[in-house]
Formats: sequence, C-alpha cells, structure tokens
Amino acid sequence: MRIISHGAAREVTGSCHEIQINGKRILLDCGLFQGKRKEAAVKNSTFAFDPAKDIDAMILSHAHMDHVGRVPLLWKQGYRKPIHCTYATKDLAEVMLLDGGYIQEKDEEYFQKHLKDSMVTLDGALYTQKDAQECMQLFRGFNYGEWFPVVEGVRAQFLDAGHIVGSAMVVIEVTENGHTHRIGFSGDLGRKHLPIIRDPEAMPPVETLICESTYGNRTHDDISTAREKLRDIIVKTARRGGKVLIPAFSLERTQEIIYDLHLLWDSKQIPALPIIIDSPLAERVTGVFMKHPECYDKHIFDDFLSRAHNPFQFSLVRYTSTTDESKALNGTPGPMIIMAGSGMCEAGRIRHHLINELPDARNAIVTVGYMAENTLGRRIIDPTISEVKIFDELVAKKAEVIFIHAYSGHADMADLDTYVLPIQGLKRVVFVHGESAQMEPFAARLKAIHPELVTHMPEKEEGIEI
Ligand SMILES: [Zn+2]
Repeated sequence: MRIISHGAAREVTGSCHEIQINGKRILLDCGLFQGKRKEAAVKNSTFAFDPAKDIDAMILSHAHMDHVGRVPLLWKQGYRKPIHCTYATKDLAEVMLLDGGYIQEKDEEYFQKHLKDSMVTLDGALYTQKDAQECMQLFRGFNYGEWFPVVEGVRAQFLDAGHIVGSAMVVIEVTENGHTHRIGFSGDLGRKHLPIIRDPEAMPPVETLICESTYGNRTHDDISTAREKLRDIIVKTARRGGKVLIPAFSLERTQEIIYDLHLLWDSKQIPALPIIIDSPLAERVTGVFMKHPECYDKHIFDDFLSRAHNPFQFSLVRYTSTTDESKALNGTPGPMIIMAGSGMCEAGRIRHHLINELPDARNAIVTVGYMAENTLGRRIIDPTISEVKIFDELVAKKAEVIFIHAYSGHADMADLDTYVLPIQGLKRVVFVHGESAQMEPFAARLKAIHPELVTHMPEKEEGIEI
C-alpha cells in the first residue's frame, strides 16, 4: 500500500491525496491551489496522473473549493469513476463548482484581454460552467456512518468532521491478503461548539491516519468569545459612522456570522443597521443549508427552528444579487455591515469594497477565517504593511483591521492533540494540509508522548510505503 500527496503537502490548499491498494488507485479530495495567481494557475492545470485511466474512485471530505475545486478538471480530462461524499456535500459541491466554473471563465477572459496571455496553459479556462455541471453525474451521496464499497477489497465510511455542513472524516478499511488495515483521513477537522453544525466525532481505531495540521501550533480563542468580539467591533464602528467589512467564505462562515448577528439582534446587543450579504453564492449556499437540517446541532433547533424562525434571514439582512446593487453600496454612507466573498480577498466583490473602504479610518475590516500565505487577506491582516495592491491600484490601509480567530472552522493544537492521541492502535501519522511551521511542532508533540509513532511530512508527489 502506498500514500501519495498530490496537493496540500506542506501547504494548506490544493488538497489531493492518493491511496494505492491492491493495484487500485483512490483519490481523497481534489481541490484547487490558491495563492499567487500565476503559480496557482500552473499547479492547478496539471495532474501527476492520467484522470482518464489511472484513478479508480474518489472520496470527497467536504465542499470547500480547496478540496473539491479541481473535480471539473478531472472530468474534463476524462475521469468517469464515482465520487463518494455525504448528501449535503454533493448539493454544496454543485453550487460551489458552478460558481467555480464561472470564475474560471471570467479569469480567463480577464487574462486574455489585459495580459494577452492565457490564464493557465494553452487551451483556455481551467474548466467551464458546463464541465462543472457535467461532472456532477459522478457524485454519489451517503449518510454519516454508512459503509459503502469503494473498489474491490476496500470499503469506507463518513463520520462528522464538524468543520462545515456535510463535512466528513473518512475511515477506509482495506482487506489485502486476508489482513485488514484501517486508514483514517481527518479531512478538515472542525472544533467543538461552532454555530450551526455538530461537534467532530472521534476517530475510531485506525492504524494509519492522514491528518490535517492547519493549526498544528496555534491556539484559538474560545469560540464563546467570537460573538462578543463581533458585537464590540460593530458597536464601536457604528458609533463612528463607519462600515464593517467582513470578507467571508460564502460557504459556512457567512452563515455562521449571519446566525450570530441574528442572535445579537434578537437580544438587542447591536444597533439596527443594514446587514448586506453581497454574495449571490452565499445566498445559494444558504438555500442548500436549509435543505440539510440533518447536519445541524441541537442549538439551531432550540434557538430558531423550534419557533419556525429562519436562522439565516431577519429584518436587517438583505442579500444583493446584481452587480449594480453591489456597486451602489460604495456611495451609501455607513453605518452598515457588508459581508462579501472571497474569504481570503483573492477574488469576488470584496476586492471592490476594500478599494473603497480600506482608506477610511472610520471603517473596520473584520477577518474571520484563515488567510493563506501570498493572499491579499494575509497582507491586510499583516500590521507591518501600510498599503496593499488591489487590481493594480495601491490602496492605503487606514481602516481598523481586526482578526477574530475564534471563528476558525479548524481544530487548533489542543483539539488536534485530543483528536489523535486517543486513537486506538495508531501506528503511523501522515501530516498534510499545513505549513511546515505548524505540522512540525504537532508531530514533535505526538512523538514526545508516543515515541514509537511513525510520522511523515511528505513533500508533493512523495510516496509513502506502508
Ligand atoms: Zn475546509
């Protein structure tokens, strides 16, 4: 048996791992690389395998683009085997991939027009909306806890990863020459007490674990502090007549923030100010959330659903659809809250709002999610940088910038330790989905407690024999 990382190897985007068993090849996730545009485009456009011939099945952990975003390219290059995931992930993936196809087409158009150069390689957009729509026929939905066959001698099961709606960790059971070996894949591991979704489940006994390590060396603030911090910055910014700009992932983080704003408004902790969700994608994702209450935790029933309240809609909230509505926000005075994608400020409407609102000291930029290296979001939260480049324009950073770490959807170092250490029979951990500075201390902590544990931190395309 062999494990290879084709992406998210000592970095956090482009999740794509492969397990080779009994002469069969199984992909775990197939996500987009994000970061420096040209560099990401090159990494995204090529596979180290032939999708038409080499891969026998794929298992998908969740619908974030850095895990699912290259599936339409797999399809375009001839992949026709099943993609296994939870029911909610299947519905969310459809919304995310169609939007992804649209972004790829637009990016290509922009590159052709302004740079007289193709975005990726020589044959146009990475994939189109048509590819995204067509690849959906490969998706197969399953319930949490249900075993399903993957290839001969291999079955798998999803458990709730508590990261976003539909997110799963995977248990893969391999029977080879009469011997059974279990591999666990953490997917993106969530945390306890996140709004909307349930807490992560425990990983059952496995011998090998492929484990994410995004925050392998960082401690998050307690999630209970997130709503208070959000309230405080809104009240403070509203007093000075400013706008609160929240770059947020359209999938999950936006809904979590709306959920918290709803609770704050119901308990009269924030003033009546317009809350604009400037993201057509977020609106579509919210629609999918409403279809999957089987993924919700108890609180959302107690706080909203038992009273027949829609958690994601209340009197202050307005979803914008057209770009004209979005542009009109620039000339509208504060106070107001604008939430827009993308989460790392690399694409989408948030960039237009940042150009307008960053130079005004009355405003606040509230970041609520992970900002990968080399993204605009990372430069915005970097206190040593006083101006940032957006669409070739230098923009002064005068607005107050705060980072509410507590909303993170990823386990922190203590969560990761308490996830891995109790796993019965664990012999080997393969660390993925983390920068070296995060995964190395994580590995060292585990080794200090279990010196016999074999640990790997593979580079991209490095194979591990088991
Ligand atoms: Zn994720």
